[in-house]
Amino acid sequence: MKSEELFSAAKTLIPGGVSSPVRAIKPYPFYTARAEGSHLYTVDGAALIDCCMGYGPLLLGHARPEIKKAIADRLEKGWLYGTPIPEEPEFAKLITGDHPGMDMARFVSSGSEATMAAIRLARGFTGKSDIVKIEGGFHGAHDAVLVKAGSGATTMGVPDSAGVLPDLVAHTRQVPYNDAEALETLLAKNNDIAALIIEPVLGNIGPVVPQDGYLRSVREITQAHDVLLIFDEVITGYRLGIGGAQKMYGIKPDLTTLGKIIGGGLPIGAFCGKREIMSLTVPEGPVYQAGTFSGNPLSLTAGIATIRWLHDHPKTYADLAEKTRVIEESLPEEKLDTGSFVRLGSMFKYFFRKDAPQNYTEVKECDTQAFGAFWQKMLDRGVFIPPSQFETNFLSVAHTPQDIETIAGGYLA
Ligand code: PLP
Repeated sequence: MKSEELFSAAKTLIPGGVSSPVRAIKPYPFYTARAEGSHLYTVDGAALIDCCMGYGPLLLGHARPEIKKAIADRLEKGWLYGTPIPEEPEFAKLITGDHPGMDMARFVSSGSEATMAAIRLARGFTGKSDIVKIEGGFHGAHDAVLVKAGSGATTMGVPDSAGVLPDLVAHTRQVPYNDAEALETLLAKNNDIAALIIEPVLGNIGPVVPQDGYLRSVREITQAHDVLLIFDEVITGYRLGIGGAQKMYGIKPDLTTLGKIIGGGLPIGAFCGKREIMSLTVPEGPVYQAGTFSGNPLSLTAGIATIRWLHDHPKTYADLAEKTRVIEESLPEEKLDTGSFVRLGSMFKYFFRKDAPQNYTEVKECDTQAFGAFWQKMLDRGVFIPPSQFETNFLSVAHTPQDIETIAGGYLA
């Protein structure tokens, strides 16, 4: 069956025809039959250079042989035990060792679960009720953070979800990104705030990058007001480098959430942080968290293999940054009259707004119609970029110079 036919069947069985809203490409999404390296192969016979990479997890590319082998070896031994596996402490040691702000880590099954647990932990530790999030920051699809969320929520024009209790959302306050003063004002006026949760680099409407000194100010302000700082590094963890944004910008958050890359392409999440906070998690402490699939053997195996690979290949991040630099350098001058190109390592995007956006309000000023035409043009050229002006484009180790040339050529026409 071809994509169009598959989608018309799916629409009658699955709300919107898809299992996650950003996949609902109009008039119908293409269905993928298989993927390898930098390419997706569709059921319609197209081979597409993938700049979405599963929305971030596939830093090493699709079906990387070393990761495939690790998963296959694990499969031979069964794939769910309901007990810890011997590699689990080693993985926790690897991750905590790589990040300045971590003594302990706990594995869950998704980034959403990780942020939900981190927020609960912050409330449990501080005994305070409210959280602050950044406008346009996305932390998963749970109630406390579905306020002015980026990603699919912005694309779909439903920044707030039906079914979320206003009483609950009242405990989630908002400040704009890159505005330390707004944060200071909010925290100075309120003493019921447990934590600030922030994507250090806004990935779900970006990349929107921090202005010089912004993250440092965020750290100082939260500390001064006894508010925990949660870095949501579900995207930036191992994407910006080993140690993520916290290493890159030299900040020690109190708690960190990870996901995506640490599962090597399989479902995972982790919440991590200082021992005094983490040890409040059940069964050591009173803050509840549990999951049938938490720390599942396949995800841990793929994750460990990925992180070990990155440790063994120290040139990886410089090589990745070089790829986005080549794309940027190839941009014709006139493209910068109407848009802006932002890149950070292997994250990049052309915004249809003359100046690079600094926050959510500015991102929403992008010309989404022009983006729609550009997206289709790229697809016709054989390049799949995320089907939303708001999502970040990702490259991987598997993208070849020829892939980069093809991607860059898409900006020339
Ligand atoms: N946090 C951030 C920064 C994310 O980008 C995402 C997902 O895109 C999440 C949390 C939620 O992760 P998951 O989709 O694994 O639940």
